[in-house]
Amino acid sequence: MQLMAKAYRSLSLRTLPSLCRICEQWNSAAICNACRRLHIRQQARCCRCALPSNTVVCAECESHPPLWQRCAAALPYAEPWRSLIADYKFNGHLGLVRFWGECLRQRAAEMGMLEQVELVVPVPLSQARLRERGFNQSLILAKALTHPQVLPEGLLRLRDTQPQANLPRQERLNNLAHAIACNPRHVQDFQQRHVLLVDDVMTTGSTLQACTQALLQVGVQQVHVLVLARADGRQAPQSDPAH
Ligand SMILES: [Zn+2]
Ligand SMILES: [Zn+2]
Repeated sequence: MQLMAKAYRSLSLRTLPSLCRICEQWNSAAICNACRRLHIRQQARCCRCALPSNTVVCAECESHPPLWQRCAAALPYAEPWRSLIADYKFNGHLGLVRFWGECLRQRAAEMGMLEQVELVVPVPLSQARLRERGFNQSLILAKALTHPQVLPEGLLRLRDTQPQANLPRQERLNNLAHAIACNPRHVQDFQQRHVLLVDDVMTTGSTLQACTQALLQVGVQQVHVLVLARADGRQAPQSDPAH
């Protein structure tokens, strides 16, 4: 018995086989290579809003450019990712965090983002939401990028906003503009810096826009946006809860 316990202890977790979370085949990775090839496939996307586009910058961004410089999404917000992200965000399943980090790093590298940014800042949660959930899903993703300068509380969410999907765009933005602010302790750190803003899912982009506005207001030079998944439409699905 003792011998077995010793043998078990000597097994590194890395060597234990696990099931692919998508196809449930035995594999040593959380998502097997076949599923990666099948489901990560990306279509061409606009470099400003990360929506599918045949041109580098889509027509909407040409006429109404967003406040940030560039926006990249690691995955499409579609099955199987949608359910896996919901498991992560709402049920606290952290088993795919390393995989999410790989996807984000790869996408950021393809866009040449990581060399350009000096600070990484997650989209913040309100204190109430943080207490309820126990973690900020965007902060975990920001850390999984393994950039040396992550500011966990660079931005603060001063209060919760109601689910945004039903509100007209301008109302949504006004609502959020008063809810998100830079942390006064970091205002100096932000001066003239290039900041990477990280979030889990981008739907309308309103939250990211409010965050970008808050960063630019305190002297950030450029904001880049990196999200794990991008919904292919400008309207948020109504069933999606807010942050
Ligand atoms: Zn698989
Ligand atoms: Zn665009």
